[in-house]
Amino acid sequence: MAYDYDDSNIFARILRGEIPNDTVADTEHTLAFRDIRPQAPVHVLVIPKGAYVTYDHFAAAASEVEIVDFTRTVARLCTELGVAPGAGGAGCRLLANCGEDAHQEVPHMHLHILAGKPLGPMLSV
Ligand code: AMP
Repeated sequence: MAYDYDDSNIFARILRGEIPNDTVADTEHTLAFRDIRPQAPVHVLVIPKGAYVTYDHFAAAASEVEIVDFTRTVARLCTELGVAPGAGGAGCRLLANCGEDAHQEVPHMHLHILAGKPLGPMLSV
């Protein structure tokens, strides 16, 4: 399967330090920052530092070290943000838009952490 990574995308520019971001976590392989157009009281984006286009690209091509770092960072953030059910939080939605039908706007793999209010059903049809 072919993935064409375009390094002019906005998250690549954030990773290169070309534009600012509101960082909430920064590890060797993962960066997390607040979404510029929040759709919930808590809206954080978690991205790998590697050049991956979609979640499935990341899951297939990233090293185990990168995947573990990413996954544990998500878990740590959910706890630190006070939204992890296992740490007494009221819950969160972890969402990754992949590709055209999902309306993925930025072609650098990212996971949305959405929380802070009842989020309703996942999709309205
Ligand atoms: P998606 O539709 O899943 O690709 O979501 C991309 C997200 O990136 C949207 O929620 C945007 O609001 C967010 N976004 C775009 N540019 C920035 C930026 N410079 N800083 C933070 N979030 C951004």
